[in-house]
Amino acid sequence: MLLQPLPEPAAERAGVQLLLLRDDLTHPELPGNKWRKLKYNLQEARRLGHYTLLTFGGAFSNHLAAVAAAGRLTGLRTVGVVRGEELAQRPLNPTLARAAADGMELRFLDRTTYRRKQEPEVLAELLQQTGPAYVVPEGGSNALALPGCAELATELRALTAFDALCVACGTGGTLAGLVTGLQGAEQVLGFAALKGADFLQTNIDQLTQAATGRTYRNWALHTAYHGGGYAKLTPELRAFITQFQARHGVLLDPIYTGKMLVGVLDLLARGHFRRGSTVVAVHTGGLQAWAGFGGAPTPPGLG
Ligand SMILES: *Cc1c(COP(=O)(O)O)cnc(C)c1O
Repeated sequence: MLLQPLPEPAAERAGVQLLLLRDDLTHPELPGNKWRKLKYNLQEARRLGHYTLLTFGGAFSNHLAAVAAAGRLTGLRTVGVVRGEELAQRPLNPTLARAAADGMELRFLDRTTYRRKQEPEVLAELLQQTGPAYVVPEGGSNALALPGCAELATELRALTAFDALCVACGTGGTLAGLVTGLQGAEQVLGFAALKGADFLQTNIDQLTQAATGRTYRNWALHTAYHGGGYAKLTPELRAFITQFQARHGVLLDPIYTGKMLVGVLDLLARGHFRRGSTVVAVHTGGLQAWAGFGGAPTPPGLG
């Protein structure tokens, strides 16, 4: 796995070594944390004798894209339940079009019913229509998502010693997995991509409890870097991502990792990290989402 130095002025002034863990490069077709979260779910689906994966997501969901790709690569049938009426989703946006091209059967649920998707009657009705399926929750974060993400922490340990690990949060499943992988040693900092992310605190405790029977205290959430809310790409964030790419040759994604790096650099400027410490930010992938924002910024020198 590639660990790339980020020689940022804010880090140098703070006396901190800042590194970027390129998990976006780990798997050519299933990059980043969505693959890590799926790994043990796929094994479990197979163990239970399922031929179909059923999951949920919004129209720009990296998770839907990952499940569709996983289905194509493993030969499992995939059903994606999409939030919102079908008419409003046609023509399909690039994420959904790609998922359909990967063989995912798309089903559309109006927002009211979608909100109730965890309720037994709604789920039973869906399974009635699709046939038996292994159900993966929205975002892919269940107890079996954690061990795959824990492996990321173990792989990183083999590369370097570090003091803090920074990761973007949607559901908090990836952070929870990293925390269980670290077993209480180094600090993990989560950066929420959505507004009003206070539910995350409980979510993360519930996930680590379900996976390992423990809760942990070596992590903290930063909820002020949502930049206006989930999937809101402000001109400032777009400019940050473009400049980051020019400085480091790395494209961040528009929903998660861009906001996380804004947060990390802000914390560095505020003296949050101890002088002499090593801070690792995780690039969790998600680049497919650019298609839904009119394409990625043009790399410097090519425009
Ligand atoms: C989904 C996603 C996250 C958030 O992961 P959670 O486990 O839901 O917190 C972070 N980064 C990227 C690129 C993602 O696609």
